[in-house]
Amino acid sequence: MLIVMRQDATQRDIEGVIEAIRSHGWEPKPIPGGERTAIGILRNEGPVDPALFLNMPGVRDAIAVSKPYKLVSREMHPEDTTIPFGSGDVLIGGSRLVLMAGPCAVESEYQALSIAEKVKEAGATFFRAGAFKPRTSPYSFQGLREKGLEILAKVREETGLFIVTEATDHEVCGLVEDYADMIQIGTRNMQNYRLLLRAGQAKKPVLLKRGMWATVDEWLMAAEYIMSEGNTQVVLCERGIRTFVKHSRNTLDLNALPYLKKVSHLPVVVDPSHAAGVRDQVIPLARAAAAAGAAGLLVEVHDAPEKAMSDGPQSLYPEQFEQLVHDLRHMNIEV
Ligand code: PEP
Ligand code: MN
Repeated sequence: MLIVMRQDATQRDIEGVIEAIRSHGWEPKPIPGGERTAIGILRNEGPVDPALFLNMPGVRDAIAVSKPYKLVSREMHPEDTTIPFGSGDVLIGGSRLVLMAGPCAVESEYQALSIAEKVKEAGATFFRAGAFKPRTSPYSFQGLREKGLEILAKVREETGLFIVTEATDHEVCGLVEDYADMIQIGTRNMQNYRLLLRAGQAKKPVLLKRGMWATVDEWLMAAEYIMSEGNTQVVLCERGIRTFVKHSRNTLDLNALPYLKKVSHLPVVVDPSHAAGVRDQVIPLARAAAAAGAAGLLVEVHDAPEKAMSDGPQSLYPEQFEQLVHDLRHMNIEV
């Protein structure tokens, strides 16, 4: 339920509604707007009777929110969310497409720095590489862990690129928060509620990847968990879902983009690399995602993919990443 206040509602009227919401044991969520204030109702278990509020002073309307999620919904927040980084010249959700690129994993300082310089040169504003790696097999490379985070901090210092890297569980989330500019939550952790709640307490934005099995509504509920802890800076990342096809690792669900634009105010970034799993599909998928309105692209790039410790077959060569940026500019996409 969303209580919409009249334009001439006083502060007292607003407080009256907030009090009334609390008196039922629910949580009020005031949403100040340019013209008028709205107050969302959270933590109600069943439907809320609009008549409880319609006759209160200053109340214009009481609108049922049709979805189980609220904080992420456009009904609660009609404007697009934008997330600024640094002094604000890099904005996720603004008019420019944001490029996040880098190897799947941090392998060494030399490797990270040399790839970072190349992706920066091509137009990336974020360096994306894992220090903690969740792997399909427990015997695969698990990442350089804190050493990897130190290398990422060095990359930021030397290149000015913002850092996005994954927190694989709630115990390492604080460490990742200290080093990174944005905390990535991976597909396998989309419903790791302890991690979602911890990320919700973080002071850094969160990049929430879609579970490879998840519906869009389940994904939005996961984002709702993060926001319910107070962190409103959430970016969604479509990275492909499992289907029956054999020609790619996953299937990139671009249908989700226009749907999300309608139901949610959160920016959506697309990761064509994990969706494809094979290099030659990455550029066409990236172009399609940009055309479909992605706020950003997350692309794996490696300068020696045949030697990469993870995800080499889907990593672009730096020249291919450059080619992609060139293609995007040709499509009149501002990067
Ligand atoms: C990654 O970004 O390198 C990664 C492991 O992605 P996902 O969680 O989407 O598989
Ligand atoms: Mn990867």
